[in-house]
Amino acid sequence: MLNEKKKDIIINEMPESKEDRLTVIQPEIFEVPVGISNRHVHLCEEDVVKLYGEGHQLTKLKDLSQPGQFACEETVMLVGPKGVIEKVRVLGPARKESQVEITVTDSFKLGVKAPLRDSGDLAGSAPITLVGPKGTITLDEGAIIAARHIHMHTSVADELGLKDQDKVSVRAKGPRGIIFGDVLIRVSDKFQLEMHVDTDEANAVGLRNGDMLKAYIHRGHISEILNK
Ligand SMILES: [Zn+2]
Repeated sequence: MLNEKKKDIIINEMPESKEDRLTVIQPEIFEVPVGISNRHVHLCEEDVVKLYGEGHQLTKLKDLSQPGQFACEETVMLVGPKGVIEKVRVLGPARKESQVEITVTDSFKLGVKAPLRDSGDLAGSAPITLVGPKGTITLDEGAIIAARHIHMHTSVADELGLKDQDKVSVRAKGPRGIIFGDVLIRVSDKFQLEMHVDTDEANAVGLRNGDMLKAYIHRGHISEILNK
């Protein structure tokens, strides 16, 4: 039983904390470790109570790589017009707005037309129903497919000459190698260097948690072309 639980955590959550390692290969190229995000849910305090009962607080199961973020004991069932997905992990701490992050594959299974969005950009996103042990809620909006992104500490961004909302390309080598374009840079004093992709993106390329990829910064006219 214990083993089963442990396995579930590994499959469902982003990787454990790693050291912030910045390797600059050339001025325009740096290395970034990959963290693979499975479908997950962020909840506001009000929705925690609706799903788990009065006075309930989210229970930390495991710290995630980004400082302050953690996987919770709690899970929910997602319900859409075409199907359900059980045991979807809740991530803490509670946020201002509830947000459901699914993959394109999940969106087909659920029949939920979730748009590709940056985390927190929920206006006009898809409706979805969440079922917990003590109640059910239907969000009018909140289901998204999270756009791939790189978390980066402010000091690292300064060193690389990057700012929040910049975009870079990231190369993944291998038999199904690919160049990920439009990888959003997200900068904060609370972030640690890591690229987040979802399970669809990772599986398409054969990526594993912790793989080191090379990110390419676009400067000058190249950046103008690629960012249009
Ligand atoms: Zn992320």
